[in-house]
Amino acid sequence: MQTESTQSRKGQISIHTDNILPIIKKWLYSDHDIFIRELVSNAYDAINKRNTISRRENQTLTVTPKIQITCNEEAKTLTISDNGLGMDADEIEKYINQIAFSGAEEFLKKYEDKEDKQIIGHFGLGFYSAFMVANLVEINTLSFKEGAKAVKWRCEGSTDFEISESERSDVGTDIILHLNEDSLAYLKEDEVTRLVTKYANFLPVEIAVGETVVNNQNPLWVKAPSEVTDEEYKAFYKTLFPTQFSDPLFWIHLNVDYPFNLKGILYFPKLLHELDANKGQIQMYCQQVFVSDSAKEVVPEFLNLLQGAIDCPELPLNVSRSFLQQDPYVQKISKHIVKKVADRLNELFRQNRSEFETYWEDIHPFIKYGMIQHHEFYDKVKDIVMFSSSNGGSTTIPEYLSRNEEKLQKKVLYCSNKDTQSAYVKMCQDQGLEVIYLKSSIDSHFVQFLESKDSDTKYVSVDAAVMDHLLDTEAESSEVVDPETNKSERDALGDYFKEMLKKDKMTVKVESLKSQDLAAVLVQDEYMKRMQDMSVFMKSGNAGLPFGDETLVLNSSHPLIKALQSMAGDADKSEIRGEICQHVYDLARMAHQPLSGMPLTVLDVLRFDRRG
Ligand code: ADP
Repeated sequence: MQTESTQSRKGQISIHTDNILPIIKKWLYSDHDIFIRELVSNAYDAINKRNTISRRENQTLTVTPKIQITCNEEAKTLTISDNGLGMDADEIEKYINQIAFSGAEEFLKKYEDKEDKQIIGHFGLGFYSAFMVANLVEINTLSFKEGAKAVKWRCEGSTDFEISESERSDVGTDIILHLNEDSLAYLKEDEVTRLVTKYANFLPVEIAVGETVVNNQNPLWVKAPSEVTDEEYKAFYKTLFPTQFSDPLFWIHLNVDYPFNLKGILYFPKLLHELDANKGQIQMYCQQVFVSDSAKEVVPEFLNLLQGAIDCPELPLNVSRSFLQQDPYVQKISKHIVKKVADRLNELFRQNRSEFETYWEDIHPFIKYGMIQHHEFYDKVKDIVMFSSSNGGSTTIPEYLSRNEEKLQKKVLYCSNKDTQSAYVKMCQDQGLEVIYLKSSIDSHFVQFLESKDSDTKYVSVDAAVMDHLLDTEAESSEVVDPETNKSERDALGDYFKEMLKKDKMTVKVESLKSQDLAAVLVQDEYMKRMQDMSVFMKSGNAGLPFGDETLVLNSSHPLIKALQSMAGDADKSEIRGEICQHVYDLARMAHQPLSGMPLTVLDVLRFDRRG
């Protein structure tokens, strides 16, 4: 039923907020582009509602749903028109005059003291965001209801409004914004097009700016994954990230209807050669309307290097960010995404190992970082973590353990510096022992983390200990004891080294090693060894901590050591003996020079890794 409201009348909105305009400006100023999103979303809702009603009533719509945006430079107006269900005077009264104002007031009360003002971009103050850019807003609308009369409404941003009859004859709504002086940029079609494609590119209704339809309407994520080709995935990646040169490595298509609604595509970008911290970007949509170019609240931090888009129609957008992370629905989504990423990685590993190995170069840092951060992720991917092996090729830890079980039981030998530890690796190889290479600096920390998760498996650096299996236990031990000093030959040689090198604290052992390549090796306590690796990783200034309590193992099977032993007590040879001693130590020491100029952060690690 129509009331007298179709006659020209003036009235006052009954709320306590005296002037909505300054408030809206104050709160929304930083992000005033979003008025486009709000008004276009309202237009889309109106179209949607009209469609739904006509379907329900078995009527066929005679008009093609469309949103038309018109810039009028002369009149300085921007008009957003739709052929949705329109409003009658009662509805304007109810939805525009009352609810919007009181909604704004409620909003202000709720968020007045909050630091997190960015939230406003999420809030959807809706129609009234128009006052961020306009001094005067008009609505010209005709409801689809039979016998409805067209109405005009105008408001200059105060609580005063004016409502009157309109001449309009087609169902739908025009929102006419008389732009303020600061907002004349919105008279340019290019600028409006940019914003429409930012916020409403994937809205499933035609949107024209001037003469041109500007939106795409069909985001790939709404399709069933089985119907999408690789080429389409790659092309869509380019649509989302037009400045991206290389194709993504692989992707995950999220498509859940139950128990929650989540759609989207997450891409693993190619990081090689073009690494930067801002690479990751997951756009967030709510029913195909762009909400934010960060999905921080929904996607766990370690996946922030992924790119793509997710559409969460049920996401509660009108709460603050920190609150959002606590939301059970958000937590469910987040868990689901982690699971999907892990499943996809496992699938790739199983189905195409060699391809997976090539991706590994690019993705390992965030997988490792993710494992450290996320227990469930760790559990799901721990068996597909790859290391390159001294046997050639790559290996996972379970594969390594099963191959080396007999010789090493639950030990994993690793080399953290291929250049300086090559002698140790060779020693192991000579004895048929496999070594894994830790290539990136994050790995030292990662290995420690793996041990904390699975304490049965021990990771041992090749230079951290000369292990039993490197010692030649069958070699004749020459425990000749000097009757004068009551010292064994071995102890005497050890003391001699300490004295010559002026290193009281050093432990010197004489052992016969299986390998005859090395005269001596310096070994270090595993803990000290890791501290040293970590200090390099953290770039603590003194790259490589002081060596700590070192142990020098002299190889009694080596000719140099044999010679040293035979020269004992020969006064003529004391000088040369001293020189050999220093030389043996220097050689052993050389294998322990830490690298300089190592990386700082995970991203530096990545970068470093590429170079390395
Ligand atoms: P919200 O969209 O969050 O409900 P708004 O302030 O944007 O809040 O809009 C208030 C109401 O005004 C809408 O719910 C709708 O009923 C009505 N409305 C706004 N724009 C239109 C439009 N273009 N066509 C029809 N009704 C509209």
